[in-house]
Amino acid sequence: MTPPRRSTHLVRVGGVALGGGAPVVVQSMTNTDTADVEASVAQVAELARAGSELVRLTVNNEDAARAVPRIRERLAAQGVDVPLVGDFHYNGHALLAKYPACAEALAKLRINPGNVGAGSRRDTQFAAIVEIACRHDKPVRIGVNWGSLDQAVLARAMDENAARAEPLPLDAVMREALVRSALESAAQAEKLGLPADHIVLSAKVSTVQDLIAVYRELARRCEYPLHLGLTEAGMGSKGIVASTAALAVLLQEGIGDTIRVSLTPEPGGSRAQEVVVAQEILQTMGLRAFVPLVTACPGCGRTTSTLFQELAARVQSHVRERMPQWRENYPGVENMKLAVMGCIVNGPGESRHADVGISLPGTGESPAAPVFIDGQKTVTLRGGDLAAEFIALVDDYVARRYAHKSA
Ligand code: SF4
Repeated sequence: MTPPRRSTHLVRVGGVALGGGAPVVVQSMTNTDTADVEASVAQVAELARAGSELVRLTVNNEDAARAVPRIRERLAAQGVDVPLVGDFHYNGHALLAKYPACAEALAKLRINPGNVGAGSRRDTQFAAIVEIACRHDKPVRIGVNWGSLDQAVLARAMDENAARAEPLPLDAVMREALVRSALESAAQAEKLGLPADHIVLSAKVSTVQDLIAVYRELARRCEYPLHLGLTEAGMGSKGIVASTAALAVLLQEGIGDTIRVSLTPEPGGSRAQEVVVAQEILQTMGLRAFVPLVTACPGCGRTTSTLFQELAARVQSHVRERMPQWRENYPGVENMKLAVMGCIVNGPGESRHADVGISLPGTGESPAAPVFIDGQKTVTLRGGDLAAEFIALVDDYVARRYAHKSA
């Protein structure tokens, strides 16, 4: 069963709904130089095609601010309408004031209360950004980060803690300062005229237990939609595991309205991997469906060759490649379940539970691969190009079952 979403405020970011019971939204961020329009357009399009429903770009200087409207136009010309979010630190007030077309081209502004400005300038620069957001009718994510926590809020929390009869440990004070920084900035933004349904909050940290504790507290104390993400999650399996561990606990409790998985890409690796991982977290938890899931056994001493690993990989990539077209023509196909199994032990059983499953022959078994469709054994594949034959059966199943549904 899908856990209830806690955030009651619904924030519209372009055509995307955050909170208010809307499905959890997947987002990502570019790592191109935003001023490089061509590279940024290509990466935003890649992320959007992978399934990112919002894409954030850094807007760190005048060249980047000038580039944003051109990026928006070029994407529109390619038919990519994913909402763009501008990430501002230190100079957002000045860039947005000087380049109103940048503000207009963005669907949301992200500001970090710890980096808006120092000392007395902090409040005036924060107010300037909020005023621009109000004028352009743009929602704002107030995104606090462990690595750039508002020092004034932290100092206040430390003083209060020191005055307690039994002071709390330092990490508890830090977590409270993070939560307060987000909530106090949101209250300040509302006081300046930004409607509550234009505010999204985040408070990112880099360790799993801290993230869970901070977001539980945020969810308890406000109704704003929450953007979840473990910051600086890292590379490869470490980043994936850490993000999944933290996000899964919170999502299961109904906390979180949009997620980003902040992976450091492998050299030459695709930025879109963070989108795939975010989708897989939501889909394996049963919260949303994006692409057909392929169940594959891990293989063991009963498998004679790499045949089933290759078949599982080919089926998985075939499904991802076909998905943009399938999504258009075959509504509901994202719920399809496929199985690629290595031998008779669990192969037929698991394949029967799938919409389309294949049980490959293990060591000593006769060289035949029964295919199960809707729980029934329908055909047995033998030799030849088994992968191509199985994929053709999958394509045929999609065309028959999901085209019928859409009629
Ligand atoms: S299904 Fe067969 S090959 Fe796959 S892990 Fe189980 S016993 Fe091994």
